[in-house]
Amino acid sequence: MAKPSPASLRRLAAWAVGPCVPAWAVLLGLALVGRLDWTTSLVSCLVIFVLMAVLVLTRLADFDRIIRYAEDLLADPEAAAPLLQTSATAQRLLAALTALRKLWADRRDEADALARSRQDILDSLPDPFFLLDRRRRVVSANAAARVLFDLERSAGLTGRDLAGVIRDPKVLEAADLALAQNRKTEAQFTLPAPVEHTFGALIVPLSATAQDGTALIVALHDQTERLKMDRMRADFVANASHELRTPLASVLGFIETLQGPAKDDEKARGEFLEIMLKQANRMTRLIDDLLSLSRIELREHTRPTDAVDISALLHAAAELLDRQVKDRRVTLSVNIAPHLAPALGDAQELSQVFHNLISNAVKYGGERGRVELTAEMSETRPPAMPGRGPCLKISVRDFGDGIPREHIPRLTERFYRVDTARSRQLGGTGLGLAIVKRITNRHRGALVIDSDVGRGATFTVYLPTVPTAN
Ligand code: ADP
Repeated sequence: MAKPSPASLRRLAAWAVGPCVPAWAVLLGLALVGRLDWTTSLVSCLVIFVLMAVLVLTRLADFDRIIRYAEDLLADPEAAAPLLQTSATAQRLLAALTALRKLWADRRDEADALARSRQDILDSLPDPFFLLDRRRRVVSANAAARVLFDLERSAGLTGRDLAGVIRDPKVLEAADLALAQNRKTEAQFTLPAPVEHTFGALIVPLSATAQDGTALIVALHDQTERLKMDRMRADFVANASHELRTPLASVLGFIETLQGPAKDDEKARGEFLEIMLKQANRMTRLIDDLLSLSRIELREHTRPTDAVDISALLHAAAELLDRQVKDRRVTLSVNIAPHLAPALGDAQELSQVFHNLISNAVKYGGERGRVELTAEMSETRPPAMPGRGPCLKISVRDFGDGIPREHIPRLTERFYRVDTARSRQLGGTGLGLAIVKRITNRHRGALVIDSDVGRGATFTVYLPTVPTAN
């Protein structure tokens, strides 16, 4: 039997005295009325107390063990249950306590599993998420947020104020407002590094604070692409209107002049009508290019499936430009390797690609220049081209002024020109290379531009071939 503690001895005294009182009263009463002598009475009282104390002590030791077990459980949920010696009641109490402990353990496991699955769900979301407490401190963040803010490496994310993660005052204000007024708020902010990105933050307060302290959800959404597209769309409309307005204004000006001051001037009429024809042709070309571009953009995501004979197509494209080539006294050499595999594509679109590239080479290669058109198989693909294996490589090379390096990445943007006046003077719309780029994209090919100022330019188109049967 374990040695009783002073506390349990005090409890023993208190517990043993109570049950003895009725017997003591009877014994002392009998002594008072003379039916029992005092010595017998007092000795009987003592014997009753000792017996009672022994009885209580054995029972109390078990309860003491149960109390100690309950206290141990607080510190260690896996603490071992004590062995009891007597009381059935104490056994029942211990059984109930053990069942309770198991229930708690099950609940705790369930809560842990729930927390883990919540974290897994958050981690699987592609957008960055933060869970904050009522004091705006981070309770947890999902994987996307940790990657975005490089939080794997910075220790102690949990408990950090949101200001330590997103420093933008607009987001912090929106979070404070959401907490103070218990309503959804939004803010936009820009992360300057490593590449500038604009994010929308949606901040939603929870209806009740969660057990882990979560009171606020901050969901981020990368808006960079959408904003860029919006800007591009607005720029495109502005550019297209401007491109059309210029020749239109010139045509209107000549019409007014012909109706007014130059009414009877035969010579001026002839000259003006020629300019008006040029401008009208320019508008037609522009509208044709705009329509081509929008048609291609509509189909950009469906891949063409025809087998196209590239050799025939290149010869036809060169022939179609014969007039332009002769006018500028350009020497166009066509060098096509024998037995080229057919391209997987759309013949009409590919004709447009090579028409635009040869036409540019003839335009920008200079009068009396030289243009080389070559086609061959390439064993490797450029990094920009998806897939593996051999592909077709078709190059259009001129020996004109070339293109300064800094312009090359932007040449395929709509209406981007190195020298706008020169392009207009040569009848350019600024859309030719944008069309080429979109068509090669649709074909899952690639366009590679290489140029050195003063040495000319080479535009190379890589195209996939029709897959062979085996
Ligand atoms: P454009 O109708 O103006 O020719 P493109 O989209 O075909 O429009 O070409 C865009 C710009 O790229 C041209 O304005 C020109 O500045 C430049 N460019 C295209 N091809 C060549 C080339 N072969 N040599 C030099 N510059 C070129």
